[in-house]
Amino acid sequence: MKVIVVGAGLGGLSAAAYLSRSGHEVTVVERDPIPGGRAGLIAEQGFRLDNGPAVLTMPDLFDDVFAAAGANRPDFLTIKPVDPMYRAVYGDGSTLRVRHGREAMTEEIRSFANAQEAEAFGRFCDWLEKLYQAEMSTFIDANFDSLFDLVKPWRAALSLVRLGGFGRLGPKVATFFKDERLQRIFSFQAMYAGLAPAEALSIYAIITYMDSVKGVYVPEGGMHAMATSLAAALSKAGVTLRYSTKVTKVTRGEHGQVMGVEFEGGSLAADAVVCNPDLPFVYKTLLDVEAPRGVRNGQYSPSCLLWVAGVKGLPPADAAHHNIHFGHDWDRSFHALMHDGVRMPDPSILVTLHSVDDPTLAPPGCTTLYALEPTPNLTGRIDWVKEREGIMQSMRQRVASLGYPTEVVVERVYDPRDWEAMGLEQGTPFALSHTFLQSGPFRAKNVDARVPGLFFSGSSTTPGVGVPMVLVSGKLAAQRVDAFARSRGEPVR
Ligand SMILES: Cc1cc2nc3c(=O)[nH]c(=O)nc-3n(C[C@H](O)[C@H](O)[C@H](O)COP(=O)(O)OP(=O)(O)OC[C@H]3O[C@@H](n4cnc5c(N)ncnc54)[C@H](O)[C@@H]3O)c2cc1C
Repeated sequence: MKVIVVGAGLGGLSAAAYLSRSGHEVTVVERDPIPGGRAGLIAEQGFRLDNGPAVLTMPDLFDDVFAAAGANRPDFLTIKPVDPMYRAVYGDGSTLRVRHGREAMTEEIRSFANAQEAEAFGRFCDWLEKLYQAEMSTFIDANFDSLFDLVKPWRAALSLVRLGGFGRLGPKVATFFKDERLQRIFSFQAMYAGLAPAEALSIYAIITYMDSVKGVYVPEGGMHAMATSLAAALSKAGVTLRYSTKVTKVTRGEHGQVMGVEFEGGSLAADAVVCNPDLPFVYKTLLDVEAPRGVRNGQYSPSCLLWVAGVKGLPPADAAHHNIHFGHDWDRSFHALMHDGVRMPDPSILVTLHSVDDPTLAPPGCTTLYALEPTPNLTGRIDWVKEREGIMQSMRQRVASLGYPTEVVVERVYDPRDWEAMGLEQGTPFALSHTFLQSGPFRAKNVDARVPGLFFSGSSTTPGVGVPMVLVSGKLAAQRVDAFARSRGEPVR
């Protein structure tokens, strides 16, 4: 079958890989001159600066995508562990290094806190492992269609109940660790799902598992290299990739079925189309049907202010690849962000220095700087036109006061308006948040029954946001296309 994938984000590239494995004739149509979407790149004056995801987890899912394209990932891309995974710096000046491997981390906690907390880490990992086993294949790596599909995984759901998965994450993590600093480092990952740890369900501890237990990695050449290497593997597998081609419409036949796409200066016919951009954007700009209610009225994650810069000078000796600088007032900060729609009074920030592990990303004596502060999305109360400069000024001062070099050679700043201009709903790059009713079987579907032949991949559909999830989303979208092809009597390999 002829399949067009609109968008060469990681979700679109993953879909293309799985579609090519099934024997479909696949064309990826991307508006930008490069692949990667949110996993973009600024290459200027000898710097290669990532301006999207910074933390890579679950690289085995990436290997699966390469394998689907008939390729061996290490032939295209080297991925290395980042150790320490994070340097966490707390308001009281104490520092914790989150280490790869249970033993190393247990020892770290022993010297950072005490023997009881170190012992608790083992129990915490065991609990996370069980949670992961109950969730991954049943609720994450799966398509759901009917109520029957919800009944099938009842055993897994029961395990989740037994494991306390439907209580709140913050209090659950506190049952393992008394030390509030450890509670923070093992629950902040709820933010990746657009939720405050105190409010998120414990099932989202699976993100902590993927991150701080399974480990943090980095591709050689920076995060954007994930996209370029995958695009190279796809080309080799026979997938056609068209860049600088902005799709303007998904065309439909007289029964509403997909016929192909139109773009500036041409059109392409197809039996099926997989749309990778943010779902609300797809409905608003490419389709003539209204978006489903969950997409229109959904709850979107907070956003972020991102400052990426190529700077002169080297980082302080104790800096790590990823550095989290926690503010003092944890709960009040989340309240400000999630409920009041204002800037965190004492922001926690992430400072990532990719050139620490990969000096090729910056000229000699220079550093790649990536500083991210969570902010409300555009439904919040910040007037970014008036307030951006002031907020940036305070972020620059904070980063400088923490000892990082800040003499800028190249820089970009992205606030929620910039994310919105890229087609991201409510100005957030983190899509629909993972509230219970926007997760698993309840998340916006990757298919629309009103438009036969139309499918979706990416962070606003199933299973969700972040690099690992969008890689899975591509696989789930491809499974939908395969089922559609079979229903039409078309061959699927
Ligand atoms: C600042 C930031 C930090 C992040 N941090 C992390 C992190 O540390 N770890 C993590 O796992 N995740 C992180 N994420 C989230 C992660 O990057 C995203 O979930 C993921 O990359 C989204 O991929 P996608 O394929 O769904 O969408 P996208 O990457 O947005 O892909 C959509 C593609 O569609 C293209 N497109 C749009 N409209 C058209 C059109 N009309 N015609 C043709 N093409 C079109 C776009 O150009 C784009 O290439 C971060 C994101 C950002 C921005």
